[in-house]
Amino acid sequence: MVPIVKQLCPPERYKIKCPYSRTPDRIVVHNTGNCVPAKNEVTYMINRPEVISFHVAVDDEEIRQAIPFERNAWASGDGRGEGNMYGIHIEICYSQYIEKNTSLMVGQIYEKFAVAEENAAEYIASLLKEYGWGLDKVTKHQDYDGKYCPHRTLNLGWERFLKMVEKYYKEADDMTAEEVKEIIKQENEKINPTYNTLEEVPSYWREDIRAMMEQGIIAGTGNGRLGLTKSEAKNAVITWRSNRKLMEALNEKV
Ligand SMILES: [Zn+2]
Repeated sequence: MVPIVKQLCPPERYKIKCPYSRTPDRIVVHNTGNCVPAKNEVTYMINRPEVISFHVAVDDEEIRQAIPFERNAWASGDGRGEGNMYGIHIEICYSQYIEKNTSLMVGQIYEKFAVAEENAAEYIASLLKEYGWGLDKVTKHQDYDGKYCPHRTLNLGWERFLKMVEKYYKEADDMTAEEVKEIIKQENEKINPTYNTLEEVPSYWREDIRAMMEQGIIAGTGNGRLGLTKSEAKNAVITWRSNRKLMEALNEKV
């Protein structure tokens, strides 16, 4: 998934942009009707004086969040109705070619929209997972006030878009327990790598580890590999050094 960037509306603007705290219960999809990236959409939305807002804008390169999901937004034209009050409003960028504010060609805008829409589908699927929701929670602006929005997504086919979301939703579902374990292992290995040889141990710990090996305190895995994780090595060195200090202190007293 493309990066998720937070560019949150300052709290002093809450009274205009998102006055109510709430628990969200659905997704509402929009198209921006514009041809600028998510960053511009979010900046413009936060700064404009009108009571108009949305939670997230998605373009071909990123997902940009503007309003916390625990607050409402003014996006679906239904006042304090279910859309505005309970929807997580997601704007898909580059849905319209407007000559005056782009240097891009029409074809480039279409291409960016196609990628943005795909990114939005993947992101929405991840939100459904996060909230434990089914696909029935994906709604469109049109459902609330009849406005033809998300216009390009509707032109291309709403069912088609829902299928895209479903594809990502199922992909995440299809992950086996083994695959999940493997991902966790790889993530963990990044944070807490395993040192298999003394040379892999950082130099600032190496001599302590060597001394502990010589004294048989660290035995290795038995097949010539050290097999010591970073956190194990760190703890061993801390204990080793403090014990050594203690012994030195005791010896001085004797
Ligand atoms: Zn809309």
